Amino acid sequence: MELITMYFIFRCDCGRVLYAKEGVATRKCVCGKTIKVKQRRIFKKVETREEASLAVQEMQDEIYGNTDFKRASEL
Ligand SMILES: [Zn+2]
Repeated sequence: MELITMYFIFRCDCGRVLYAKEGVATRKCVCGKTIKVKQRRIFKKVETREEASLAVQEMQDEIYGNTDFKRASEL
């Protein structure tokens, strides 16, 4: 029987989207802040690392990428 490990998607105070494997207590953001995973609001839970990084990418695009996208589509 295979146990499924979940990956949690959450955000740092700086706005960056991060993911952490279930059971991992803290995650360090590139901004230098160490985040306690349990204290964060979890936006999404996924089952694989690939899905986790994809979810992070999608959220980053929603947050940061929209302006570029709009600018490109307005051309
Ligand atoms: Zn950060």
